[in-house]
Amino acid sequence: MAARPQRQILRKSAITQVECVRCGACCCNPPSNAAEGFYHWVEIGEREPILSEKAQKKGMDRLVTRDEEGVAHLRLDPEGRCLALRGRLGRRVHCTIYATRPRACRLVEAGSDECMQARASRGIL
Ligand code: SF4
Ligand code: SF4
Repeated sequence: MAARPQRQILRKSAITQVECVRCGACCCNPPSNAAEGFYHWVEIGEREPILSEKAQKKGMDRLVTRDEEGVAHLRLDPEGRCLALRGRLGRRVHCTIYATRPRACRLVEAGSDECMQARASRGIL
């Protein structure tokens, strides 16, 4: 019975940033979030580069939406994926605005609990 937690710890420590190019799970609204009726995921601070005039002129406005309270978020496709994400989840993905991605994207640490929950929610184990 003690083997299970130990196995989880080993798997968690094995996930590094290298895995991100084969994942993309945290770039998607978790199914549990959508099930509760929440269709916004990554919040964007008003001073972040993606909301700058320069970025907006480059067409990044199409990647941004605002919730009922006017808070900016990354726009998601009907499947809950960030529009800036390209590729196939769990196979090969990349962020098309990597240098301009919001702070919230940078805070997810590969191998963290949040990462592991996102991976599990998308069946990427
Ligand atoms: S869920 Fe984890 S491994 Fe997957 S892209 Fe996000 S940080 Fe990287
Ligand atoms: S901006 Fe890039 S890193 Fe952030 S959620 Fe979208 S695809 Fe992922």
